[in-house]
Amino acid sequence: MLIVQKYGGTSVADAERILHVANRVVSRIKHGDQVAVVVSAMGNRTDELIDLATSISAEPDPRELDMLLSTGEQMSIALLAMALRSIGQEAVGLTGQQAGIYTRPQYGSGRIARVEVHRIQRELDAGRVPIIAGFQGITEDAEIVTLGRGASDTTAVALAVALGADRCENCKDVEGVLTADPRIVPNARKLTDITYEEMLELSAQGSQVMHSRAVELASVYNLPIYVNSSMVDAPGTLIHSGENMEERNRVRGIAHDTDVAKITVRHVPDRPGIAANIFEPLAAANVSIDTIVQNASEDDLTDLTFTLSEKDLARAEKLMVEICKEVGAREFISDKDLGKVSIVGTGIQTAPGYASRMFRALFDAGINIDLISTSEIRLTCLVHRDRVADAVRALHDAFELEKPGATVERA
Ligand code: ASP
Ligand code: MG
Repeated sequence: MLIVQKYGGTSVADAERILHVANRVVSRIKHGDQVAVVVSAMGNRTDELIDLATSISAEPDPRELDMLLSTGEQMSIALLAMALRSIGQEAVGLTGQQAGIYTRPQYGSGRIARVEVHRIQRELDAGRVPIIAGFQGITEDAEIVTLGRGASDTTAVALAVALGADRCENCKDVEGVLTADPRIVPNARKLTDITYEEMLELSAQGSQVMHSRAVELASVYNLPIYVNSSMVDAPGTLIHSGENMEERNRVRGIAHDTDVAKITVRHVPDRPGIAANIFEPLAAANVSIDTIVQNASEDDLTDLTFTLSEKDLARAEKLMVEICKEVGAREFISDKDLGKVSIVGTGIQTAPGYASRMFRALFDAGINIDLISTSEIRLTCLVHRDRVADAVRALHDAFELEKPGATVERA
């Protein structure tokens, strides 16, 4: 098998762990597989580099910031390649440029446009393990661009697709995809498998296990992703297309996010174009909006609510002053300190009772719901940030997610 393995920052956080990863790669090769490896920056290196940059300039130049951040991954590739050589395995560290990863010219949020794999292929053919820097690429003008926080996962999937690999293995400090965050729910259970759609919803709603662009890319090319632990030897979770092998028709997992703010635009004249007039300037300023709810109108006036990351709130508020004038809204009100909790599962779309059970469980825990939104396979409630952990626990209990394979049809 040809495999792309990706190791996250925690898995390569220090010399000891890097040597451990090297041994893990070698044992895989001894097993008869060909392996290309993608690594993230060591530990919290990326955060440290950002702090360093902002201590020099409050708003660092985006080009130079990417220049700086790309060094994090460059350290990891060199050290892992050294580690492999030290135990007798030929290996070669490759930057995004050397690995042929071409991106669009957006500093800090580059999108992979194409991958030219000939160099990686040549190294593989020669029996050397290519160690590729995640999270970075190069534009047609040879500018270094990073791909957005957490995007080493995306690098790994893109490479696996381009190389025609059998699968991408995401080797982490957790054993796989769990039914909830184990720091909140100690008896959260590891799933044997999950569909792309479910994983995508979990990632989009705050699960940290996989970068959502990576899942999206894998689903487009039908590339299986295996999430497992780089530290302990235990079966992981397979992310794939098609039906879950077990546990259909039930909630698969709970995602949560504690970084939510909300803006409500009050008394907007209800005429065509208002939504466009409100959201275009926000989009132009790169404020990403999550849930949008327009309320029923009364006397041709309506209220419009949307949620966003609290990090973007101050910027959005500045724009809203102008926007309110523009669309003739009376005012806007913002709320912060919110969070959201979501239940996700393919079964939700066909079976009744999931919503009522969710609301009942939150009510029983004394948690007020601020806003509700749904997709075909997801139900999300906005709650106060301080109650997010309680909400996750209440829902994990209510849907009996600690039990393997149980069908919960008693709603
Ligand atoms: N090192 C980068 C970050 O921390 C990319 C990654 O970890 O995937 O965001
Ligand atoms: Mg990282």
